[in-house]
Amino acid sequence: MIDAETRLYGVIGNPVRHSLSPVIHNGAFQRMGLNAAYLAFEVKNLEEAVKGIKGLGIGGVSVTIPFKTRIIPFLDGLDEVAGKIGAVNTVCNESGRLIGYNTDWSGALGALEEKVDLTGKKVLLLGAGGAARAIAFGLKERGCRVFVGNRSPEKSAALAEELGMAHRPLPLAGRVDADVLVNATSAGMSPNDGESPVPKEALSREMTVMDIVYKPLKTRLLSEAEEQGCRTIDGMEMLARQGAQQIEIWTGMRPDLGQIKEDLRRALNQHSAKPRVPRGRVLEMNRRGGS
Ligand code: NDP
Repeated sequence: MIDAETRLYGVIGNPVRHSLSPVIHNGAFQRMGLNAAYLAFEVKNLEEAVKGIKGLGIGGVSVTIPFKTRIIPFLDGLDEVAGKIGAVNTVCNESGRLIGYNTDWSGALGALEEKVDLTGKKVLLLGAGGAARAIAFGLKERGCRVFVGNRSPEKSAALAEELGMAHRPLPLAGRVDADVLVNATSAGMSPNDGESPVPKEALSREMTVMDIVYKPLKTRLLSEAEEQGCRTIDGMEMLARQGAQQIEIWTGMRPDLGQIKEDLRRALNQHSAKPRVPRGRVLEMNRRGGS
C-alpha cells in the first residue's frame, strides 16, 4: 500500500511510455516486501528533472534514451565504470548526492556469461549507440577480441579506435568469423520485425548469438540463428539483469531474477497480443455550424 513512508523511484526518458522498467521494479519491490513504488517520468527539461529528484528525495532513477550521456554534468558523482563508458543508466540518491552508475554493460555481460565463457573469445558487436558502447566496454574488460560494425561506419570506426578494437565494415560478406555475435542495434525491433542486421547464411552453428532487442523477444535474427543451430540469448536476459542490478544499487538487496523474467515475459506477451485499433478517417467538422 502506498502511504507516507513509501520510497519513490522511477525512470526518466523521452519517450518513456513504452518502458518495461515499471513492470520490473514494481513487481520486484512488492515481492521483496519493500514499501516502494516506481513511476515513468517523461522528461522535457533534464536539468529541472534532476533537481526534482534531489528536491523531492526520490530514491533513485533509471535513465533511458536520450539522457544517458546528457545527465552526467548534472550529477554529483560518477561510479568509475560509468565514467569510463561515458553513460549512466542508473542514478542513486545517496544521502542527497546523486551518483551515476551503469548496469547496461554488466547486465549484458551477465546474460552472455551464463551461456559462454568469454575468455579469449572473438566477438562481433553490431552497433555504435549507447548500448553498444556499454557492451563494448564490458567485452574489453573480459579480454575478448572484439570487432565492431555499424550501419553508419564512421561511428563504429570511432568506437573501435577509442577502445582499441577492430572495425568491421557492414554489410558482412560471407560467414561471420566469430564465436559470439551481439546485436546492439535497433534492427529487428518492432515495428520493423522483418529486419535482421546480418544475413542468415552468415551464421554458423558454433556461434552464440545474442540480440538485445526485446520487442519482439524472438527477433528475426534469433529465429534464423536457431535455424542455423546457434545458441541464442534474447534481449530479456539483459533487460532483467540491468534492472535487478539497479535494485541492488538502490536497496542493497538482490531481487529474484527468475521472477523478474516471468513478469517481463507476461508483459511482453500482453503487449504483442494487444489488438491494434484501426483508426477511422478523421472527419472535418463543419465550422460554419449545422451538421
Ligand atoms: P541508440 O539510439 O543509441 O543506437 C542505435 C543503434 O542502432 C545505432 O548503432 C544505429 O545505427 C543502429 N540502428 C538503428 N536502426 C537500425 C537499422 N534499421 N538497421 C541497422 N542499424 C540500426 O540506441 P541504444 O544503443 O540505446 O539501443 C539500441 C537497441 O538496444 C534498441 O533496440 C534498444 O531497445 C535495445 N536495448 C536493449 C536493452 C536491454 O536491456 N535488452 C538495453 C538498452 C537498449 P546508426 O549509428 O547508423 O544510426
